[in-house]
Amino acid sequence: MIPRLALVHGPTPLEAMPRLGRELGIELWVKRDDATGGAEAGNKIRKLEYLLADAKAKRATVILTCGGTQSNHARATAIAAARLGLRCELLLREGDLADMPSPFPPQATGNVLLERLVGAIIRPLARSDWSRRNQRLEERARALTADGETPYIVPEGGSNGLGALGYVRAMAEVREQLNYGLGPQRPKRFDVIVHACGSGGTAAGIVLGAARHEVAPQVRPFAVCDDARYFQAVIERIMGDAQALDESLDRAADLVIDDRARGPAYGVMDRLQLAVLVRVARTSGLVLDPTYTGKAMAGLVGAITSGDVALGSRVLFLHTGGLPGLLAQGAALAEAL
Ligand SMILES: *Cc1c(COP(=O)(O)O)cnc(C)c1O
Repeated sequence: MIPRLALVHGPTPLEAMPRLGRELGIELWVKRDDATGGAEAGNKIRKLEYLLADAKAKRATVILTCGGTQSNHARATAIAAARLGLRCELLLREGDLADMPSPFPPQATGNVLLERLVGAIIRPLARSDWSRRNQRLEERARALTADGETPYIVPEGGSNGLGALGYVRAMAEVREQLNYGLGPQRPKRFDVIVHACGSGGTAAGIVLGAARHEVAPQVRPFAVCDDARYFQAVIERIMGDAQALDESLDRAADLVIDDRARGPAYGVMDRLQLAVLVRVARTSGLVLDPTYTGKAMAGLVGAITSGDVALGSRVLFLHTGGLPGLLAQGAALAEAL
């Protein structure tokens, strides 16, 4: 058995969204992983169940991770670490958004507010250093070790083989919900799972878990930053690492990475994407965020229009969270409201 901490408030709801689905021309279901917890909620906490169990087993005293300025992963890690009585240090990329320029420390809004609240140490990571983020984490870990600490590095997004097991487990949870009759009937499965993809761990876990638990034959991650080629390599590597940890993960669903919904930049939406985010909120009460879930929904609308997701399909939209990021972006949204 691979050790796991119970951090997720689960099972998270599997909700039918008939009105929004009718508007889009599909049978739409939403897995509410924005409800995996309180302030720590979102997809990252599923990965952290495995990663922080490993950190505890290795007697870590401080958790180290990295992310964008308004990283949901950094916030979830900081809160979970505080809950476990561990110190937490975050290397956050400088100047992601126009309204959050360098220098550090960044404005205490959204995710950063929560990180500061739980006492995480925030250190700047220059934009030009982002490609060397793993090296920077290792350097910081060495310095902490020299100070007598036992650091544990959680990779960007919690996305490695171990973290991805959190999404294999999420697919087992959906399978149980389907078996209980809480989802579509005859057959009790979806045609495709769609979700936002930023570091690849969620996609890797879903591709393996959806096959293992027969939840859907196809997964369509919407890239929010890099292109499909980049993510194909990243996701395959993480899948391989997960398979090395769990031999039962010997099959994979069809992986179709869609990079047409990236928008102008990471964390920035175009006008059409903003319009989708606002319309979905107003017509269905489903609150999405501008960095991840809003782009995935806008991407789904585009994929239905292009015929890549067929009309009438049974779609499972994974809501991965991101509310604090939305709350930090009032200025960017003001015009669309
Ligand atoms: C991190 C994140 C994602 C992307 O998940 P990855 O596993 O990093 O690809 C999607 N949505 C939200 C809200 C996130 O915070």
